[in-house]
Amino acid sequence: MKSMDKGKTQFNEKMTAFFKGLPEKAKGLVYPDNLTCDLCGEELMVKSRYNLCSKCIEDLRIIGGHICLNCGVAIDNEAEYCDRCQHTSSVFKINRSPMIYDGKARDAIHALKFGGKKYLVKTIGAMMADTFLKYNMEGEIIVPVPMTEKDKKKRGFNQAELLAYEVGARLNIPVLPALKKTKETSMQKELSGKDRAENLTKVFEVVYPQVKDRKILLIDDIFTTGATANECAKALLKGKCKEVSVLTACITKLKPLME
Ligand SMILES: [Zn+2]
Ligand SMILES: [Zn+2]
Repeated sequence: MKSMDKGKTQFNEKMTAFFKGLPEKAKGLVYPDNLTCDLCGEELMVKSRYNLCSKCIEDLRIIGGHICLNCGVAIDNEAEYCDRCQHTSSVFKINRSPMIYDGKARDAIHALKFGGKKYLVKTIGAMMADTFLKYNMEGEIIVPVPMTEKDKKKRGFNQAELLAYEVGARLNIPVLPALKKTKETSMQKELSGKDRAENLTKVFEVVYPQVKDRKILLIDDIFTTGATANECAKALLKGKCKEVSVLTACITKLKPLME
């Protein structure tokens, strides 16, 4: 028997002994079902902060250490800004993301968006809320990056909105879907950085005047070139908000992924 299996058996035996004599109803409360890793399904012996096993946490590229002052991507030299931000100007204050959009993080975002695995919002949202606190980010109102009504209907949900409500609940910040996406844009990922920005011009508008004089925390799933965040921030600033900070689940590596 492998030592890990042995440990598991001992743990289970202990739990069985512990539960003897407990009323049936109480068992579910103390020892919840589905105590499994959100990404690989491996059984979790101990409930971890993010509902992930240690192997999956290891595989994620969690951002820490020296980062770009603007977009928050990890940089491996002493520069203050990454290559992406040295050549673009943005109207939002900062972006921060807990993870690089790669490997398992990318699988998780895909599973949420295209696989409809909405339970992933809890783990990803928890990581985003921790990132907000880690970098002393500010926000009085959370605003999700919107989808057009047509796109949302097609998918059944807007993942940015689900993440926004999860982060809002954890940080106790109200969520207001203050932006509307007014026109369809051709697939952003097929476009270059400049074309992406042009494609998004005047696509977003503010539909709630309550953003006025408020510090806004804009939430999205992925930060790629920053064009979407920037256009949303422009619309919010036009709506006279005080400032816009951006919190995204993942940021692409410096060379934007064309997938
Ligand atoms: Zn796992
Ligand atoms: Zn940057």
